[in-house]
Amino acid sequence: MAVSRFESRHRAFLAEAQLRYPWQFRIAGVRHDPTEVNVGPGWHDLLRRLFAEVESALGPREREGFRWRRLRAVQGALELRREGGGDLIMPAVVRARDAAAETCEVCGEPGVRRHVRGWFAVECDRHYVRRLLQHHPGGDGAAATWWATPRPELDGRTPGRVYERAPDDPRLLEAALQAVLPAPPVINGAHRQRLQRLWPVLREQFGERLRALRLAEFDGAPGPSGTVLAVVAGATAERDLPAGVTRMARAGFSDLRLRLLSPESVEHPATAADPWSAMLAVHASVPIPRHQPSA
Ligand SMILES: [Zn+2]
Repeated sequence: MAVSRFESRHRAFLAEAQLRYPWQFRIAGVRHDPTEVNVGPGWHDLLRRLFAEVESALGPREREGFRWRRLRAVQGALELRREGGGDLIMPAVVRARDAAAETCEVCGEPGVRRHVRGWFAVECDRHYVRRLLQHHPGGDGAAATWWATPRPELDGRTPGRVYERAPDDPRLLEAALQAVLPAPPVINGAHRQRLQRLWPVLREQFGERLRALRLAEFDGAPGPSGTVLAVVAGATAERDLPAGVTRMARAGFSDLRLRLLSPESVEHPATAADPWSAMLAVHASVPIPRHQPSA
């Protein structure tokens, strides 16, 4: 089973690192709180490089005060907590984080940071498809049936066969996304009235660049739920997202998540930077009507 194979590889990786660089883990030290290591096997090599670079960066005196506290994957980013080492190891730390940002956490091939239902990870296309299927609404059985059933949009081939021959075919990714998307939300009059107020809030931020607003992943229950998909011309998540999130929070919409999409990404969801949200926009969302000022 995949889990136990991962577990044994993880243990072997950790044992090897602790044997080779005991001072980085303080195996023989007085402290007994062990270093927390929690990354996929695809990141083992970049951590091995990091340990080697830290060893060459620190002399015997600096090594004494050094120890890794935590090495783990958090929402597709490599978190590195340590004691000591100072600025001497910063270049190695930055290199490791940069490498992690584009390395599949599962297999170590080139990867991209993408999410499924808000859970981010760095993966190659193959392992993104595999993770998508873990979210199949019908469970593992339904996912296995889908995998083995020929599909018209894949020229009559099964997803499993396309995966073996051409795992980066965008049609496979699109079909997998479509298989696991939630149903479009149902909103009532009160929801609609409240949501309409988002138009002036986000217009203030994005002006004429704001083309459409849609709602997805919303079940109407109290508490945080729901994703607002804003189609914004020239949108980039790094530059535009924080300002949009702040505006929404100030206007009382902090219960809703904001995702920005460019008009192009909605045209070609499978190759978009955020394929999950692009597919939600196309197949599993409802429009948020424009606010009509009454005066
Ligand atoms: Zn992979």
